[in-house]
Amino acid sequence: MAIPVLRSLTLKQAIHAVLAAFVIGLTITAAEFAWTASRERAMALAQVKDVVALVEGPAASAAWLIDAELAGQILQGMVRANAAWAEIRLGDGTLLARRERPPGQPATLLEHAATALLFIDRPVVTHDLPTPAAGPRAADGSRIGQLVVGIDTRRAAAGFLAYVSAALLAGTLRNLLIGLAMAAVFHRLLTRPLLQIGRAVARIDPEKPYGQPLSVPRGHADDELGFVIARFNHTLTLLEREHDELRRLATRCPLTGLANRALLLDRLGHAIELASRAKEPDAGRLAVLYVDLDRFKRINDSLGHGVGDLMLCRVAERLGASVRRCDTVGRLGGDEFLVVLERVADRDEAAMVAQRLLDSLSSLSEVGDHRVHVTASIGIAVHPLGTTGGTPDGTGLMRMADSAMQAAKAAGGDRFVFYTRDMTDRAENRLRLESGLREAIAARAFELVYQPKIEAASGKLTGFEALIRWRHEGTAVSPADFIPVAEDTGLIIEIGRWVLEEACRTATRWALDHGPVPVAVNVSARQLADPGFARLVEQVLQRHGTPPHLLELEITETVIMKDVRHHLPTLNRLRGLGVRIAIDDFGTGYSSLAYLRQLPVDVLKIDRSFVNDLPHAPDIASTVIALAQRLLLSTVAEGVETAEQRHWLAEAGCDCLQGFLISHPLAAEAAEAMVMTTFARDEVLPMTA
Ligand code: C2E
Ligand code: MG
Ligand code: MG
Repeated sequence: MAIPVLRSLTLKQAIHAVLAAFVIGLTITAAEFAWTASRERAMALAQVKDVVALVEGPAASAAWLIDAELAGQILQGMVRANAAWAEIRLGDGTLLARRERPPGQPATLLEHAATALLFIDRPVVTHDLPTPAAGPRAADGSRIGQLVVGIDTRRAAAGFLAYVSAALLAGTLRNLLIGLAMAAVFHRLLTRPLLQIGRAVARIDPEKPYGQPLSVPRGHADDELGFVIARFNHTLTLLEREHDELRRLATRCPLTGLANRALLLDRLGHAIELASRAKEPDAGRLAVLYVDLDRFKRINDSLGHGVGDLMLCRVAERLGASVRRCDTVGRLGGDEFLVVLERVADRDEAAMVAQRLLDSLSSLSEVGDHRVHVTASIGIAVHPLGTTGGTPDGTGLMRMADSAMQAAKAAGGDRFVFYTRDMTDRAENRLRLESGLREAIAARAFELVYQPKIEAASGKLTGFEALIRWRHEGTAVSPADFIPVAEDTGLIIEIGRWVLEEACRTATRWALDHGPVPVAVNVSARQLADPGFARLVEQVLQRHGTPPHLLELEITETVIMKDVRHHLPTLNRLRGLGVRIAIDDFGTGYSSLAYLRQLPVDVLKIDRSFVNDLPHAPDIASTVIALAQRLLLSTVAEGVETAEQRHWLAEAGCDCLQGFLISHPLAAEAAEAMVMTTFARDEVLPMTA
């Protein structure tokens, strides 16, 4: 910190101190001069008067005798002494004698000025000369004449000037010295300590400004400077505390106190760097465990968020207690935790820790006053083992562990799964599908095919199931692959709306052109859960003028049964519109028989897997048919591929059949041709209600 001399406080205060000393000094000097001037004037007058008193007698005698010569001698003496000129006048005013000092050097400007200052009124001393002692003066005070004396102003002014110049010189010197002394004192007491403080502040490292309090310059502990430094240090301490708190909040989960995602990524980055530099193989290996609690949402929903939070805290404690000090446990959010194990010997060690975590969580049986059963799914990614291709960074490792965790979850939870390369392939594939779907929605690149259903007893056409088709990058993608992705991403809402519109448009056209043919549309879980779904169906029916009984909605059994109470109002509204409802893939879920009786459904579609078992293992198919008959529902057998199956189903009393034996799904034109033939034969479509 270098401040140019011209702008330095030292110079400024020196200038100010000197100026102040000068102003004060000059003011005092001016007063002194005025006083001296009046004293000089008085002294000059007094001296003249003294001389006048001395010569009064001889001058009076000279006037008495009218002796001009004597008078001249007396006056000459006066002029020599201190008068500029002197004269004696007689009583009648006539001049007896006059003497003047011969003119010397012409006066300088300064002398003129001083003379004007001291004797602006050009004073003259006039003294009455008394009649000599023998005369009558004592009696009547009469005078014989006058002695008039002009004061030698030039001499007085010269004396004054000499004094003034000496005083000015001395004053200037004194003022300068006082000013400099004041500046030196200020510098020592103020500027120097300030400079020291400034240098100390400048030395503070902005990266870590705390923990280095400023020291008080010597001798200033209890003065104002000491106070300023004490306040500064105090403020620094307060800021440090605040900074620590902010850092804690920015890097810690406020609920559990565990590291948050940012800190985890940071630690993971460090761990990867250390591992890649390590010499021994063990030190070069680390494992990332992605822990996700199973069915945590249920705890939150049923016991409330308070209990949910408490449970997360207990889980955090247990995870922390199950790993070594050098390992890191963090919370990524929700019920997801991450454990970073450093210096892992091999996969077995990571597996051992994962099992220990699972055991520790499952031993957690009580949270608050509630009994709980905690299980988790753990995905493990090991670095650098088990990864091929480039070395992943922290985010990459985390993503791998996440994929493995998803696999553990898909396998039923309460287990750990190691990451494998194909998980990434699947994830990438999924991403590709997702972006492809978005483009397909925008470009309306889907198509509907129609698979006929026939009456089992007569073989007459009873309707079609509309099935979606999508060609992506030149190949047909099965709906079994892309519908789940559309479900997860919410794109199914848009896609489902298009399917509904297209199916209703087709059903209306066929009804107008040929005759009424029911068309079934598959409805996914997300669509059914959408609060606007029933209204959408109503609007679409109206828009296309479709008679509601020509629309059938197929909902998979697992979807309906997952949350019957929630879906019931929507199903009732749909049923109220006159739309038929079928339970798809029946037999694969866990239908509650009690619910089945309450549900507003018309059709049970026997799942293909049970039809496939026919005629060797007919138990489930025959049970479903019996159940449907009891509940007055009609049955459709899916996936009928052989004549034996068809025969068995017809015999068993199944109402309708659908499957490759009857027909593969057909393009719209082919399906329409089938409708035309049916009505041309004047066949009446049997309604399966
Ligand atoms: P799903 O609703 O059970 O449809 C029946 C599936 O079985 C169709 O497969 C159909 O082509 C196939 N299938 C029909 N007969 C036979 C047979 O005899 N043997 C065999 N092996 N398969 C047969 P697809 O078209 O691949 O559809 C698969 C699933 O995708 C459907 O199962 C349905 O759940 C879903 N899906 C299809 N289209 C849509 C749609 O528009 N919306 C929704 N939400 N889901 C759809
Ligand atoms: Mg279906
Ligand atoms: Mg099905």
